[in-house]
Amino acid sequence: MRNDYDIAVVGGGLLGSAIAWGLGRIGQRVVVLDEGDVTKRASRANFALVWVQSKGLGMPAYTVWTVRASETWAQLAADLKDQTGLDVGLQRNGGFHLALSEGELEQRANTLKRLHNQIGAADYQVEVMDHDRVAAMLPAIGPEVVGGTFCPLDGHVNSLRSFRAFHTGFKAFGVDYRPEHPVTAIAQSGGEFRLTTPKGEIRAGKVVLAAGNANETLAPMVGLKAPMGPTRGQIVVTERTMPFLPHPLTTIRQTDEGTVMIGDSKEDLLDDSGLDLSISTVMADRARRTFPLLGRLNVVRTWSGIRVMPKDGFPVYDQSESHPGAFVACCHSGVTLASNHAYALAPMIAAGQLDAAQVGAFTGRRFDAAATTGSGYY
Ligand SMILES: Cc1cc2nc3c(=O)[nH]c(=O)nc-3n(C[C@H](O)[C@H](O)[C@H](O)COP(=O)(O)OP(=O)(O)OC[C@H]3O[C@@H](n4cnc5c(N)ncnc54)[C@H](O)[C@@H]3O)c2cc1C
Repeated sequence: MRNDYDIAVVGGGLLGSAIAWGLGRIGQRVVVLDEGDVTKRASRANFALVWVQSKGLGMPAYTVWTVRASETWAQLAADLKDQTGLDVGLQRNGGFHLALSEGELEQRANTLKRLHNQIGAADYQVEVMDHDRVAAMLPAIGPEVVGGTFCPLDGHVNSLRSFRAFHTGFKAFGVDYRPEHPVTAIAQSGGEFRLTTPKGEIRAGKVVLAAGNANETLAPMVGLKAPMGPTRGQIVVTERTMPFLPHPLTTIRQTDEGTVMIGDSKEDLLDDSGLDLSISTVMADRARRTFPLLGRLNVVRTWSGIRVMPKDGFPVYDQSESHPGAFVACCHSGVTLASNHAYALAPMIAAGQLDAAQVGAFTGRRFDAAATTGSGYY
């Protein structure tokens, strides 16, 4: 078998980068084929939570996968630091979802109870806390906060630095990164894949489609399926302030640099060149009611980004029966799941076989069934 590379990874966002890093780490000869820098990338627009407490209603296997990711993130942060010198700023001491009314708190607690009661679900160790218990851990909350849910497995990172660390790290492993190489066609013949790009053909023994929402178009080229339903999210960022927030929240986090990020809406629009200020206003107002001290800070920037979102909200990991050696990987929560992609998924791909016990639930074949319901994201 003649191959220029063992594996071609299509897409150089967080998913493709984490997989390429994981493959390079175990000695695979890898090329990453990416579009240009101006393309829409969730990996540069996200909220950076390593988040567990609300993921997996409708798919208990996703709770297990998410807990595993949270548990192995510290190892990933340490390995990236050792290799690249970049500190990705992982903080993993638990996170909150706070409620501004009794009704909100009750609804949240009920959702988490349903999630926890699913057969086969992992234990997220979530606690429901009243105002006083929350205030003991987050003294800056305002009087409108009636309580919240706390999960000790939640955390956050510096997402852009993690992205940079993966790119720096995979290059150090010898991975060949090729920007301006959008893949337009994929064929398999003579035991190898031939990937068409405007800059010529690339050949590899295996191919991993990690092209975000573009997987919907690419996957059928190798007999796979990845129906997507992307949404837009907006984020508001304040000027730097003193440390006041020792735990991240679903919608408010203080970065390691001192700014406060307020996020993140869910909109059906797919235009990330604009903003809906009426939505940002609601987000900012809720943040100010949650932590009144935020009312004194200036907003320094705001942006919108398009989520990579498989149709039912859960990840898609699959391998092709018609094109052996072709894999697809895409998900929302690519920050949270980066450790799994590097340490668990990459070795399976290198071995040429996804482990059904670990990722069988995430097959794209689930979309063959009538209505798929649920969401990876609450
Ligand atoms: C507002 C917002 C908030 C978020 N918050 C969080 C969070 O708190 N925690 C969390 O875990 N996740 C969060 N996410 C999700 C996370 O950012 C994504 O899951 C992750 O970035 C997906 O990475 P990706 O590599 O699949 O996609 P992308 O970053 O979109 O990258 C896809 C790449 O594929 C390339 N590509 C596309 N087509 C082709 C082609 N034909 N050939 C070659 N390359 C191609 C693109 O150029 C791009 O580089 C958030 C996302 C958004 C938008």
